[in-house]
Amino acid sequence: MITAGLGYIVQCNHTTLVNTVNLAPADLPKESGRFDLPIALGILAASQQMPADTLERYEFAGELSLSGELRPIRGALAMTYAMHHRGDQNRQQRAFILPRMNADEAALVADVTILPADSLLQVCAHFAAHDPDARLQRHVATPVTALPDYPDLAEVKGQAQAKRALEVAAAGGHSVLMVGPPGTGKSMLAKRFAGILRPMTDEEALESAAVQSLTSGFSSARWKLRPFRAPHHTASGVALVGGGGTPRPGEISLAHHGLLFLDELPEFHRSVLEVLREPLESGHITISRAARQADFPAQFQLIAAMNPCPCGYLGHTSNRCRCTPDLIARYQGKISGPLLDRIDMQIQVGALPHEDLLKQADGESSAGIAMRVAHAAATQLARQGKPNHALTGNEIELHCQPDNSGEQLLRTAMSRLNWSARAYHRVLKVARTIADLGNESTISKPHVAEAIQYRRALREQ
Ligand SMILES: [Zn+2]
Repeated sequence: MITAGLGYIVQCNHTTLVNTVNLAPADLPKESGRFDLPIALGILAASQQMPADTLERYEFAGELSLSGELRPIRGALAMTYAMHHRGDQNRQQRAFILPRMNADEAALVADVTILPADSLLQVCAHFAAHDPDARLQRHVATPVTALPDYPDLAEVKGQAQAKRALEVAAAGGHSVLMVGPPGTGKSMLAKRFAGILRPMTDEEALESAAVQSLTSGFSSARWKLRPFRAPHHTASGVALVGGGGTPRPGEISLAHHGLLFLDELPEFHRSVLEVLREPLESGHITISRAARQADFPAQFQLIAAMNPCPCGYLGHTSNRCRCTPDLIARYQGKISGPLLDRIDMQIQVGALPHEDLLKQADGESSAGIAMRVAHAAATQLARQGKPNHALTGNEIELHCQPDNSGEQLLRTAMSRLNWSARAYHRVLKVARTIADLGNESTISKPHVAEAIQYRRALREQ
């Protein structure tokens, strides 16, 4: 009996004429070439060409070529991460034998022993050798010491208000919709957003890398770099949230602990956008296909962008918008109220005046903003153990109570703008973040007033 990757068992019975290979458990999918190596070893052990008892202390995964070379597989890091995460009692004693090409990513989980091999012959020699030098050697991951390199916000000219809003979004983990004419730097701002977020923890980096390894999209050069996923508006629901015959993670999971940037939001198919509602609240997605069910993490921060109207120039200083009110309403209406409700902040990114366009970029660098963000994020963790965006029900009452003048302003805004209870709570959470950035324990009127501004870029809800 041989364990092949996590949760799978390969059993081989040898008679004079046939080998029977049994892969268990029966109800889990077994596509992928990663079973080649355990099957080959199972046959060798069943036919007594190698000792079966020593194999039990190992896990194996790898695809074999016809000449016996080991080829890389998908999900190597996900396998070692699962072993680490479930607190496997035997993980210290058990070793993982994997194709050499997968060793770097798998060894990112430091407490699992990785023995990389190039071929089936090398694996067999490992078990036959008396000489320790002939055995497979433990792979130690090369530590990645370079800091993640993100483009800098200082490269974006003007847009001080939008940058301030992004600072608030980064500090509290709030989702953002940027509304503005084409060419105002919405995409540039989004691409620089990851650079002001607090650095990833080891655990976050591992989780994010493990999901990416499932689609062979992870390279150890991207270690601790927050993922930035920007699917095109023609993306299908399956591409966005995951799915397929054998469920694979979609863009929202590949953006786990990173950013999902949806440019031209109204151009996405409405049904595709609606499936975002659940993971935006819960941070994970369950995909059910016939008898199979897969649960993928999806704690992404949503950054969306759109034009204010079909021509793009509504409210523009020099270009005139030619859209009728009806067209504008229909365009903005492509984003449903319930989805809009779940986006914490909606901000306007206006066209730059001509004199600003000619100026050199002179804004604050990402590093300076990131320091304030990190401080505010640490305040939240110390107070409530989670970022402000993740506060729910009672926690909002406990941690986000404004003072009297703040509360009065909020109640007026709520009745005038006809907000839902959900929108009301979101404004409170954003106000909490604004107070945290200012190092204030009490949420007062200016914090509430700024938070209200971040919900007025589109039609009033
Ligand atoms: Zn227009």
